[in-house]
Amino acid sequence: MDSSLFKKDILTASQFTKKDVERVVAVTRSMRDIVDKDGSTDILKGNIMTALFYEPSSRTFGSFVAAMQRLGGGFIPLQGVVYSSVAKGESLPDTVRTFASFSDCIVLRHPQVGAAVTAADATAKPVINAGDGPGEHPTQALLDFFTIMDHFGSVDGLTITLVGDLLNGRTVHSLITLLSLFSPKAIHLVSPEVLKMTRDHLEGPKKSGIKVIEHEALDDVLGETDVLYATRVQKERFTDLDVYEKVKYSYIITPDIMKKSKKTAILMHPFPRLGEIDGAVDADPRALYLRAQIPNGMYVRMALLALVLKEDISV
Ligand code: ASP
Repeated sequence: MDSSLFKKDILTASQFTKKDVERVVAVTRSMRDIVDKDGSTDILKGNIMTALFYEPSSRTFGSFVAAMQRLGGGFIPLQGVVYSSVAKGESLPDTVRTFASFSDCIVLRHPQVGAAVTAADATAKPVINAGDGPGEHPTQALLDFFTIMDHFGSVDGLTITLVGDLLNGRTVHSLITLLSLFSPKAIHLVSPEVLKMTRDHLEGPKKSGIKVIEHEALDDVLGETDVLYATRVQKERFTDLDVYEKVKYSYIITPDIMKKSKKTAILMHPFPRLGEIDGAVDADPRALYLRAQIPNGMYVRMALLALVLKEDISV
């Protein structure tokens, strides 16, 4: 039953079928139940995950490590290790081959688009893309998707608005692809002209016939938005910091914006936030980033690790 992700690399949201996503959602619910009831399980006892992080990360790194431990497995943490050969300029394939021989899977974060594919080519062990530069972040998209599903029961018929740095924000690249497997009513893309999503990421919705509309003003779409997904302007991807300064606060979600939003809408953000959401919004019951999205990250990563490393997890 679980064979479709067993021993597979998780490199891009476009590799998933609708059935894969539905299975991840179901297993994520079971993982949440296990954690609520018992705290942990030994499904992955004896397995080891290498967390190979070349770019800063706190939530993704921490949630993968916590996920592996709650499944009874161990991990090798490689994050900002200054004195390792990684810092001496060793090639990515050599590092991946080395740690693949010590462990059962590699979770990779890297500044270059396509690095996860390079890593996957270097080893037969599963590689999970935990963010490749401004490319993709499929595990974040799965947790975002799970959060929407868990709240609304379905994404079908919803109007989803992605706002902010749609050019460099990898989470929205993966999320729009996952959403395209289902039937949202419309996807609104709100960004300054210089931060528009590149056309390749619009292939998914185009193929599925989902209406995608681009805007510069958030006010245009607030009244019809069910899911408002805000993103950080990705300073680290700018070559000209003057441009960053001009666009960094293009959209700030304030209590006033929430007043103009639907009573039933939800507000999401992949975090970290750097001023895109006013702290006064946190107490709004529609703000799901702290109370749902972040905890869901660990449950989704438990589900993914279990599905990738175990043939039949029977949960
Ligand atoms: N944490 C997310 C990522 O790694 C979002 C962000 O950094 O803005 O892509």
